[in-house]
Amino acid sequence: TSARVAGLGTTIFAEMSALALRTGAVNLGQGFPDTDGPGDVIDVAVEAMRTGANQYAPGTGIPALRQAIAEHQRRWYGLALDPDTEIAVSTGATEAIAAAILGLVDPGDEVVVLEPYYDSYVAVLEFAGGVRRPVTLRAPDFRLDLDVMRAAVGPRTTAMLINSPHNPTGMVLDAEEREAVRDLAVEHDLVVITDEVYEHLTFDGRAHVPLATLPGMRERTLTISSAGKSFSFTGWKVGWMSGPAELVRAAMGAKQFLTYTSGAPLQPAIAHALGHDAAYFEGFAATLQARRDQLCAGLSEIGFTTYVPQGTYFATTDIRPLGYEDGIDFCRALPEIAGVVAVPTQVFYDDKDAGRPLVRWAFCKQEPVIAEALRRLQAIR
Ligand code: PMP
Ligand code: GLN
Repeated sequence: TSARVAGLGTTIFAEMSALALRTGAVNLGQGFPDTDGPGDVIDVAVEAMRTGANQYAPGTGIPALRQAIAEHQRRWYGLALDPDTEIAVSTGATEAIAAAILGLVDPGDEVVVLEPYYDSYVAVLEFAGGVRRPVTLRAPDFRLDLDVMRAAVGPRTTAMLINSPHNPTGMVLDAEEREAVRDLAVEHDLVVITDEVYEHLTFDGRAHVPLATLPGMRERTLTISSAGKSFSFTGWKVGWMSGPAELVRAAMGAKQFLTYTSGAPLQPAIAHALGHDAAYFEGFAATLQARRDQLCAGLSEIGFTTYVPQGTYFATTDIRPLGYEDGIDFCRALPEIAGVVAVPTQVFYDDKDAGRPLVRWAFCKQEPVIAEALRRLQAIR
């Protein structure tokens, strides 16, 4: 095993999902829906396989999908993108993130990142030799501390890696925070890589505003999203990036040697999916909002301090009111104690103190599954 990989250990998602399988626990750990996305989208994929879309797709993705992504960005956000040069399809957002970092970050470059992180950020920054400069989001509201963010930018900073709606905290950047990111990026001429995979999962009437729509940002922002989240096909691993041709080209320079191209028959299906009307996306968010409310009310009632998320499909709790101190110990013991799996937020923080008592629960699950998890959790009172 290389030193590079040995230091990374096993992802918490693999550890916790294996624990769920082994113990028969209800899995509110790894974020994947327990129902499939729209049947008409599946039909298009099946038809594509039956009619010969089974060889390599073009490296940047099939034209129909690139056009559908461009149309989606125009329809929802008013962003005009050239599907031939400003959009590329990836094997999940995870690959787009990896390709962006490998294609844009040199050894020694500093990258400002919000922590807690989606865990692949840390690993890929290490692969690239980049140095992460964390900006810590803290309970109870996980707001972006603008002074801390400004202080994180130094002479070696070349990029910011932003995620909103934010996994795992559920924080959605507000207008002031977005503008502060913009001001900093413009002032220091930084590239902004923005992970917006939960773009359609914002709650309570809150709108998702892509960073690329702010003045001065379109030309420096690479926006990443995923069909896994918006259409509940996490296993398909179809993602994409969009932004100025120069940034897409840089990321493609890495992607061509990561996977070369992404799954051909899934691409026409996601092109079709992106054309769904607003009612689909709004209905999806409304369903998740109801699940959020169900889970958060239940967790509060059991005695957790519960931080109700503004977006994503994760809720965070503090376990200390129930007499526990450390989220890792708690999550390792929970399947035995209560038959439920959750994820310790601490593993996504460099600042372990900020994360120690925090635990993340996924609510992209059917209502009876959430109800059963809550029933089981009564055992820890
Ligand atoms: N970014 C964030 C913030 C995520 O939560 C996820 C899903 N776990 C990803 C990226 C990766 O998405 P994909 O499954 O499309 O690779
Ligand atoms: N995005 C999902 C989560 O945060 C899945 C992550 C993964 O399996 N790598 O739970």
